[in-house]
Amino acid sequence: MINTNHKILFDESKCVGCQLCYKGCFVDVIRWDAEKKKPVFKYVEDCEHCFICQSLCKKDAITVCPDYASEHFGQHFEQYR
Ligand code: SF4
Ligand code: SF4
Repeated sequence: MINTNHKILFDESKCVGCQLCYKGCFVDVIRWDAEKKKPVFKYVEDCEHCFICQSLCKKDAITVCPDYASEHFGQHFEQYR
């Protein structure tokens, strides 16, 4: 279990269902709700903070908020310490 407070904020009211975020996420954090035609953010602890989803969203519906103090970040960057 990774101790993390990573967050992805999603403003559903701005989303137009274009699927760009869903197609752009390379680690499968973003799933697709076909009924609602909206992304579903699953397993946020696996997010790699590439900001692709946020950059692709032309409606400003996504804000990626990494927890820079978390264990997960430590594991990634310990080689630079
Ligand atoms: S990229 Fe933005 S507008 Fe398009 S589906 Fe994702 S959240 Fe919705
Ligand atoms: S920041 Fe990158 S890894 Fe995280 S949900 Fe968005 S596209 Fe996926």
